[in-house]
Amino acid sequence: MPLTPDQLAEIEAARATPHPTLRAVSEGMEAHLYRAHPVLDHGFIRVIDYMGDDSAIVQAARVSYGAGTKHVQNDEGLIRYLMRHWHSTPFEMCEIKLHVKLPVFVARQWIRHRTANVNEYSARYSILDREFYIPAPDQLAAQSTVNNQGRGEVLTGEEAARVLELLKSDANRAYDHYEAMLSQDGQQGLARELARMNLPANIYTQWYWKVDLHNLFHFLRLRADPHAQYEIRVYAEAIAATVKDWVPLAYGAFEDYRMGGVTLSSKAIAVLKRRLAGETVTQEASGMSKGEWREFVEVWG
Ligand SMILES: Cc1cc2nc3c(=O)[nH]c(=O)nc-3n(C[C@H](O)[C@H](O)[C@H](O)COP(=O)(O)OP(=O)(O)OC[C@H]3O[C@@H](n4cnc5c(N)ncnc54)[C@H](O)[C@@H]3O)c2cc1C
Repeated sequence: MPLTPDQLAEIEAARATPHPTLRAVSEGMEAHLYRAHPVLDHGFIRVIDYMGDDSAIVQAARVSYGAGTKHVQNDEGLIRYLMRHWHSTPFEMCEIKLHVKLPVFVARQWIRHRTANVNEYSARYSILDREFYIPAPDQLAAQSTVNNQGRGEVLTGEEAARVLELLKSDANRAYDHYEAMLSQDGQQGLARELARMNLPANIYTQWYWKVDLHNLFHFLRLRADPHAQYEIRVYAEAIAATVKDWVPLAYGAFEDYRMGGVTLSSKAIAVLKRRLAGETVTQEASGMSKGEWREFVEVWG
């Protein structure tokens, strides 16, 4: 269960007592506020707080451009202009604070995004729950044969059962020993800060994560991408769905220029021009490496 009954009651109580405010409010985001969106088998994301909306981005941009923005017809046009030209600071005027419950190995990838503020559950102070991420059958896959950082065919039958059994029994044995090492039944026991060290990387942790919209887009660009590991991608996708409701115009521009767009090298532009002129260009004649060429062909055929 992602949240305890007490936590769920707290969320409902918070949602039942709204306060009038003079601050910018995003109706789309208000619908998400405090509520948990389940991710993986025991995880979730939920919005604890946010600042700003699409108008906050426009407002900040108009401060820097002043009368110069008059030629831009509307807010959407201005936001798309900012995104297209990498004018990023107006997007930093919006912020979001999330409560995230996630496996430790996902947290290891996530924490590499340094442009955020984090406060994590303390396993020195508190005892961790017996909650481990066990992949669903469709995610239990073998090593990819073409990508060192990816997975290939899904395991089936006896092989899937063998691997699942190992994952579950290892996690439970490690947790049994964790409990046995902690001070209990009148024994002196080991400090929590030490006993935790034998726990596996699929145990769940929790944190509050606060980030501005510009850096959140950067995170989503990398982690909602098909090349990101599935277990962090599903968190990024859950956050992306929330951001879409929070700042629909900014999210639309992000989807168009960043998620859906591609960056072209000067060599790629030259190949495209030659192709448009009717020439058949090979990898050898393109000046690109095999890897570059493969990625180019994936997009351009
Ligand atoms: C598919 C994938 C595979 C990966 N594989 C590996 C791997 O094998 N090994 C590994 O170690 N990592 C790996 N990473 C992590 C990756 O290298 C980045 O550390 C991570 O994505 C965070 O990106 P970032 O530094 O741009 O983000 P942030 O830390 O949020 O920074 C955002 C931007 O701020 C600027 N910035 C922030 N801090 C500094 C600073 N101190 N100095 C200069 N500029 C700064 C940079 O412009 C940066 O792009 C992988 C990431 C992905 C998405």
